[in-house]
Formats: sequence, C-alpha cells, structure tokens
Amino acid sequence: MNRFSWVNPSSIEDAVAALEPGASIKAGGIDMMDLLKEGLIVPQRLVNLRAVEGLDQIEETSDGLHIGPLVTLARLAADPTIQKLHRALADAASRAATPQIRNVATVGGNLLQRPRCWYFRNEAFVCRKKGGGRCYAHGGENAYHAILDNQLCAAVHPSAMATALLALGAQLEIRGPVGQRSAPLEGFFVAPEVDVMRENALGDREIITKIILPEPPSGSGSAYLKQGEKESFDWPLAEVAVMLEREANRCKRASIVLGAAAPVPFRAKAAEDALTGKVVDEATARAAARAAVQGAKPLEQNAYKVTIFEAIVRRTILAAHGNVK
Ligand SMILES: Cc1cc2nc3c(=O)[nH]c(=O)nc-3n(C[C@H](O)[C@H](O)[C@H](O)COP(=O)(O)OP(=O)(O)OC[C@H]3O[C@@H](n4cnc5c(N)ncnc54)[C@H](O)[C@@H]3O)c2cc1C
Repeated sequence: MNRFSWVNPSSIEDAVAALEPGASIKAGGIDMMDLLKEGLIVPQRLVNLRAVEGLDQIEETSDGLHIGPLVTLARLAADPTIQKLHRALADAASRAATPQIRNVATVGGNLLQRPRCWYFRNEAFVCRKKGGGRCYAHGGENAYHAILDNQLCAAVHPSAMATALLALGAQLEIRGPVGQRSAPLEGFFVAPEVDVMRENALGDREIITKIILPEPPSGSGSAYLKQGEKESFDWPLAEVAVMLEREANRCKRASIVLGAAAPVPFRAKAAEDALTGKVVDEATARAAARAAVQGAKPLEQNAYKVTIFEAIVRRTILAAHGNVK
C-alpha cells in the first residue's frame, strides 16, 4: 500500500475542493480498504467524507424520501419509514454482507463499490477492466459470473443497494466542481460496451450527496429476495428487486431488477412487459420469470444461475404483490 495524505473536510464544498487529481473519496472504507490492499487504486490523498455535515440523514419531504449517502446499511434496514414505504430497500440492506459490515458500510459506497470478480481483484490478471485485452472469466473460473450481457466482461455488479434502488426509481443528487446535478439511477450505471473500465457515470471530483426515492404510488408494493450459496452472510448468487403498481387487481406497472446477473444491475424489461396488464398470480409470475432470463447466455460453469434466477424472480414478484398497500 502506498503512502497517502488524509483529509477530513467538514462541508461538501471543502470535500469537492479537496478532490485534486490523484485523490479518492472514502466513506465507510470497506471497499476502499480492499482496493488499496489489492493495488487497484494508488491514491495520493484520501478524502474522508465521514465528518461532512448532513450526509447521514434520512428525511421525509414533499418530493419523497431523501437518504444521505453516509447512511449505513444497518440504519437503512432498521428505519421504520423505509420498512413501511420501501420494503425492497430495507430487505436488501438487511441481507447484505455481515452485521459488522452493515454497521460501517454506507449506501453511497455500496452503489459505487467495484466488482468482486476474482480476476479483476487479482493484480496478476490484467483484464479488460484494467486496460488489458481479455476477460479471464471466459474460459476460466466463472461459476459466480454474469449470465446476461457478459460478452466483453463477465463480472457481476456487486451492489444490492443498486438492485433495490433501481427498482424503486431512485434519483441521485451529485455535487462537483461545477455545481449540483441530479441523475436518475436508471442510466447511471455504465455497461462494458460503453466503457469497460468503469461501472458508473460519476465524474471526476463528483460526490453523491443524496439519494431520493419518490413516494410510492398508492396500490404499489415492493420486495427483494436474495439467494446465496449458504444461509449465513454471503454474496448473492442471485438477487432480485421488484416494484409493482396495481390497478383494479391488475399490474399497471412493474419494475423488475436482477442483481448479480450482469455487469450492471439488469432491468428485466421483457419480464415487466409480460406482467403489465395481467392479474398477478402464480401463472403470470412464472411467465414473467421465464421472460426475465430469456436472453441469458451462461458461461461454462454458471448455467445453474439461470434456474435460480427464474425461481427468485417468480418469488419476488409474488412477494411484491403480497406487499401491495
Ligand atoms: C465479506 C463481505 C461481504 C459483502 N457482501 C455484500 C453483499 O451481500 N451485498 C452488497 O451489496 N455488498 C456486499 N459487500 C460490499 C459492502 O457492502 C461494500 O463494500 C460497502 O457497502 C461499501 O461502502 P463503504 O461506505 O464502505 O464505501 P467505501 O469503501 O468507503 O467506498 C466505496 C467506493 O465508493 C466511493 N464513494 C463512497 N461514497 C461516495 C460518495 N458519497 N460520493 C462519491 N464517491 C463515493 C469511494 O471513493 C469508493 O470508490 C460485502 C463486503 C464484504 C467485505
């Protein structure tokens, strides 16, 4: 690990000003510490956000729920408003990582963490994500890799928060040297075909300052389910978040997102279309789940994930249907 300087700004303005070239942001530091140890980043300066005032609030406002990027996963999971209005987010936060990690890991850092692909994380493999010419998961150890959109890079996006927040229609508020902008989370993640070396569209010297969740429409409900290899803490083999809006017992609008399936959180539009206008029941949920994995192109060792996703999508649709208020 290289030597770096450490700054503790107390305002957003100071934090943005401290982000000179060669500086990196630190929130909870869980992924940051691994990236440093693995030699994936070599910053000259770490800008610690934890003393920046106002970034750790959860606030109900007239335009929805405002969540500060420093809110920990443990707080998201335990917050009564989030449990009541945005069940998918509370459940995703409660199932991620371990209790110790959830107490420190922040929602902003979770969205921006780098993929856990073992070839990417290993200094010995200069894969496409690191400027090399190939994806080592193709023809390699790929049991945990992507089954969708995996041609250029087969790493899966690691963020459970991204899976849930995308299904819930979140917006980001971002501050940088030229001021503030907002960006829908839909479109924030960058597919390998656009730029294989990054996973999101956050600019240099930009900081996520807020995550905004619109008030859920009446007659809507959400759910999140995760399947790991074991029941204790584990990364997901498959995770799914669903938001359903119902009218007169039929699905008016569905948002279905698959995590751990593709290099960016995967919005299963074919499944959404299959469900829209239908009465939600076992048969329509099953048909939508089949549509969700229609385009899957599993690698040598991960075809089992297709079957798991099909089951988890069906169960999450039915769980969201049961959560409609
Ligand atoms: C054993 C283990 C199991 C895990 N299991 C899961 C799991 O099941 N599901 C899951 O989703 N995650 C899992 N994780 C990942 C963990 O949740 C993330 O590493 C953590 O949430 C990152 O948050 P952080 O606050 O520590 O971010 P940091 O490590 O501080 O930062 C992560 C990245 O975000 C950037 N950043 C942070 N905040 C901001 C901001 N506000 N604006 C701009 N840039 C910012 C940093 O520069 C850095 O690049 C696991 C991790 C471990 C070690």
